[in-house]
Amino acid sequence: MAVADTSTSIRTVSHWINGVAQASAGEHSAIVWNPATGEPQARVDFAAVEVIDRAVEAANHALPEWRSTPLSRRAEIMFKLRELVDAHRREIAEMITAEHGKTLPDALGEVARGLENLEFACGIPNLLKGGFSEQASRGVDVYQIRQPLGVVAGISPFNFPAMVPMWMFPNAIACGNTFLLKPSEKDPSASLLLAELTKRAGVPDGVFNVIQGDSVAVDRVLEHPDVKAVSFVGSTPVAKHIYEAATRNGKRVQALGGAKNHMLVLPDADIDMAADAAVSAACGSAGERCMAISAVVAVGAVAGPLVEAIAGRMARLNVGPGIDPQTEMGPLITREHRDRVASYLADAESEGAKVVLDGRRDPACRRAGFFLGASLLDNVRPGMRCYDDEIFGPVLSVIRANTYTEALRVINRNPYGNGVALFTRDGGAARQFQFDVEVGMVGINVPIPVPVSYYSFGGWKASLFGDLHMYGPEGVQFYTRAKVVSSRWPDPGTSKVDLGFPQSR
Ligand code: NAD
Repeated sequence: MAVADTSTSIRTVSHWINGVAQASAGEHSAIVWNPATGEPQARVDFAAVEVIDRAVEAANHALPEWRSTPLSRRAEIMFKLRELVDAHRREIAEMITAEHGKTLPDALGEVARGLENLEFACGIPNLLKGGFSEQASRGVDVYQIRQPLGVVAGISPFNFPAMVPMWMFPNAIACGNTFLLKPSEKDPSASLLLAELTKRAGVPDGVFNVIQGDSVAVDRVLEHPDVKAVSFVGSTPVAKHIYEAATRNGKRVQALGGAKNHMLVLPDADIDMAADAAVSAACGSAGERCMAISAVVAVGAVAGPLVEAIAGRMARLNVGPGIDPQTEMGPLITREHRDRVASYLADAESEGAKVVLDGRRDPACRRAGFFLGASLLDNVRPGMRCYDDEIFGPVLSVIRANTYTEALRVINRNPYGNGVALFTRDGGAARQFQFDVEVGMVGINVPIPVPVSYYSFGGWKASLFGDLHMYGPEGVQFYTRAKVVSSRWPDPGTSKVDLGFPQSR
């Protein structure tokens, strides 16, 4: 939402184009809130079409030299960037806590998981090695090389303002592309610090650009003919829009969407361990993680004791400002989002669920920030709004199932397929589950199975539009295109006209 600025004292967050932080040009803007106090803390510019065009031009201009830069030099720059981000961990994390609201340890964890992707990109000379087939035919060698796409763009969500950009741009630029980042307008500052660090690391001007904005900026990126590929992470309706618009305009696209992640607890599971995991994965970052657990599916007699163990743990959580070392769970991102999440609690009872713990009663809700305590709903069923929607807040639903088969059916029928966890002590059951479940990322006794950077991240079904997952080997594949060369160096004396279709001899 673009709003008029009523304050002259708050700072302005603007764009980073061609290696230079841009002064605010009095464009449309929005308030960046402090979720812990409920007050405005900055103003973020919204790029107009001309600004996007200027950023694409800078990226286009930087492209020929950057894609010609030797791999060893690109790797050296990625190493330097890795060192700089490492040295600025705390500063980045503090920005995240101030604008997103998550606790400082959680924000530090986000930076650490982002750093993994920089480490992966340091191996770019090895990652871009192609195949070579000597003597594919008589005197003919065939080999494959991977080349960058050109100018590529990344559009990131509010919930990981540093990590998700680092899922995208290290691999993109290491592969020889130039990059445009459009961060979330809700917590835009970390993107500018990352931009500054890329410059200090030796990334040439124009190779990494940041444009702040809303759908106007995104739509221009989607239609700009010089933008060759788009990586998107955000909600499913927007992911679908991005996928459709980008493909219609002939771009390569990976659009990661929303989620409804289940945790299946079998009767043999350790109840305390399962309850610890459920609460951590449901309430970490106030449930604003795409890999948060939002539904526990409890099989058989485990349900009663599990609900009790989860409720006890949730009730003890310390909710408060993310910067306070005592805080375990911070506020939600905006007042509107907090109210939307709370509305599910208001409706749950009338839909037939049991509200075991109502986060609206948490003492933190009396603070001025956008707080909501942890909430637990029992006897939830598909068809209820609290189950069908992605709530994206600290609300955990418990579904009771009689058998593994019934539990599996619930999970596989859900339209989303991002992450899932199984808690059990039975290796055979776990193996069967990983075979059966229709979800892209599976945790066996691991509640938030975000793959390490040398695998790739991506859900199934309505959690991903596109073919390739993000970061890791599939990230390198996404940001490059293959070229196959067939070559021979015959004696010209042997040359003759031959109209037959070439075949191996
Ligand atoms: P969002 O979809 O509202 O916004 C994501 C990005 O798209 C932002 O940069 C935003 O400015 C832009 N945007 C918003 N509306 C747009 C429109 N109509 N047209 C063009 N661009 C638009 O998502 P969010 O609220 O920032 O993030 C939370 C969502 O992201 C949740 O649904 C969560 O599950 C999802 N998410 C998914 C993953 C994943 O890997 N699958 C990771 C993180 C977050």
